[in-house]
Amino acid sequence: MTEELLKRVRDFTAAELIGKDGHFDSLPEQPTVETARLHAAGLANWWVPESYGGAGLSLQDSVDVVSELSYGDAGFAFGAFLPILGSLMLQHFADEELARPALETLATDGDQIAVLGSEEEAGSELVRTATTFHPEGDRLVLTGEKYFSTNTDTAHLLLVLARSSDDDFAVIAVPRDTPGVEIVKRWDLLGVRSTGAYRVRLNGCTVPATNRLHGNGLRTLEASLNASRILIAACAVGISRRIRDLSMEYAASKTLRGAPLTKNAVFAGKLGQMEMLIDVMRHQCRAAAAEFDGLLAATDSSGTGLYRIGTLRSALAAKLYCGQAGWDVASTGSELFGGLGYTQDHPIGKLVRDMRYVAIVEGGQDIMRDLLYARYVLPARKRR
Ligand SMILES: Cc1cc2nc3c(=O)[nH]c(=O)nc-3n(C[C@H](O)[C@H](O)[C@H](O)COP(=O)(O)OP(=O)(O)OC[C@H]3O[C@@H](n4cnc5c(N)ncnc54)[C@H](O)[C@@H]3O)c2cc1C
Repeated sequence: MTEELLKRVRDFTAAELIGKDGHFDSLPEQPTVETARLHAAGLANWWVPESYGGAGLSLQDSVDVVSELSYGDAGFAFGAFLPILGSLMLQHFADEELARPALETLATDGDQIAVLGSEEEAGSELVRTATTFHPEGDRLVLTGEKYFSTNTDTAHLLLVLARSSDDDFAVIAVPRDTPGVEIVKRWDLLGVRSTGAYRVRLNGCTVPATNRLHGNGLRTLEASLNASRILIAACAVGISRRIRDLSMEYAASKTLRGAPLTKNAVFAGKLGQMEMLIDVMRHQCRAAAAEFDGLLAATDSSGTGLYRIGTLRSALAAKLYCGQAGWDVASTGSELFGGLGYTQDHPIGKLVRDMRYVAIVEGGQDIMRDLLYARYVLPARKRR
């Protein structure tokens, strides 16, 4: 099942993503035609469990799916896998009446779920979230502004982090067509430009109180972020593999001192180094994903297991390491093409810009280091 699906992803990448760098880099309209084709190929939202009509791929196998898709275009890959964050939150922390239709629609319609956490003053410090909710009878009313959120315009369901007047943090499901949901702007991103990332206002959006997910919203989000952080890290594997292959293509036709660049020992050393980084990145992502899969399998249906996972060391390490190693590969790659590497005529410029997102989105490098220190280095009694 997994091998067969991976082959289909590889074929999809070759047919639909490779060779379209200009299109993907142009901030294409959302959803892209390729998004619809991913669904038509039966590949959208591949992780949705079989009990909800999906293919039920593990997170470990999703690492390789994301590596394949981001070999073609990392922005496309990001938009395609990010619904995993909302889907985990619904599966483990929402009432079945809320979760089932949403998860089934992901499988049957190739739909998306967006997560609206960060704000202008609360990105890494979500505890400063200013978006509020308050009860009105059997309904909840949300007001606030979210700075960045991916897929929001096209998703059918938005999971919004908000706080009450007595500092109760909650994740609340808001259907996209709820009156008061307003897209303020689409960001003109530096890289991963085929993704739709938006600034969103919530003007007194009213939803049933049962749309609140169980538990503390900050912890719900934290546990689920392990999965999407690992997959963001996996994008660095795919982008790096593409840089390696483009480097080999270039070096085969470039001559230096009368011989192809491929025969040059300095070039060989660079490519050998790249291959080592690619291999270690992939293994760290797969090891972190396997740990998450194992913990998830041990989770009881109430979701308390996932709640207890917190922030996994292996997921933080994967995101931090791939942010660094991927940047090393991108930097080596951009030098390798000489002056051509500093033009828009060669895809390397786009790949460098795409790679940058790995070290920024869902927590920058300082945040990864700080979390590793606060959760795993400090003595247990002093941990935050
Ligand atoms: C393309 C894109 C898509 C996104 N999609 C979503 C989405 O779908 N949903 C969502 O909720 N958010 C989304 N985001 C937001 C993203 O996750 C945040 O921008 C990211 O986590 C960084 O947070 P920040 O912007 O608040 O910057 P900050 O984390 O505040 O960083 C600003 C500065 O503070 C420093 N800093 C922060 N924390 C520490 C620390 N602990 N120690 C030392 N220095 C520190 C940083 O190093 C940096 O210099 C998206 C962003 C982008 C660019």
